[in-house]
Amino acid sequence: METAGDVTRMRLVGGNLAVDFVNTRTGPPVGAPDDDVLTGYPDLVAWSVYAGALTEAEAAALRRLARDDPQGAQVAFARSLRTRDHLDATFRALAAGRSPSRSALTRLRDDEADALGHARLDRVGRFEWSWRDDHTLARPIRPVVHAAVQLLTAGTPDRIKGCGGCRSVFVDESKNRSRRWCSMDDCGTTEKIRRYVAARRTRAAR
Ligand SMILES: [Zn+2]
Repeated sequence: METAGDVTRMRLVGGNLAVDFVNTRTGPPVGAPDDDVLTGYPDLVAWSVYAGALTEAEAAALRRLARDDPQGAQVAFARSLRTRDHLDATFRALAAGRSPSRSALTRLRDDEADALGHARLDRVGRFEWSWRDDHTLARPIRPVVHAAVQLLTAGTPDRIKGCGGCRSVFVDESKNRSRRWCSMDDCGTTEKIRRYVAARRTRAAR
């Protein structure tokens, strides 16, 4: 059986479930991604638990379902990757100050219609969509799609940014909108070292 890789090596820096889902692919700020933590359905389930979108019990049920229907799991996984592609294009367009393509937004609408068709309204103080009754292989992608719609319709899409050092995207919630890096421990530190080395070189050249 296919086992899940280490999905926890991806930091959750996006500030939104759908943005973090896009960040499951890594690479340079522009150009093609060079790594992907999602290699199969088990990774998708493991990542959803890691990101807080699935409980362990729900994950166990989905793993059983996938074992009984490997082809269905493959189809659900492929569909999730297509959703990731259109979310990626949407967030990256917004980060660049452009409008997302109409086709990506239509895909998002279709995905959301499907997600809400499998959801129920639960009272958690106010009411929230929940997929507790959804026992289909597409369960992991549903809250991701909904988080994307929430971000675009009720959140702060104008605060979506791309990291200066890698292909991560994030919602900049800082007061003065000054966040530049996915994480100060990764790209932020690399930049600090780069500046330090450059400054030392300048001093040495004097
Ligand atoms: Zn980065």
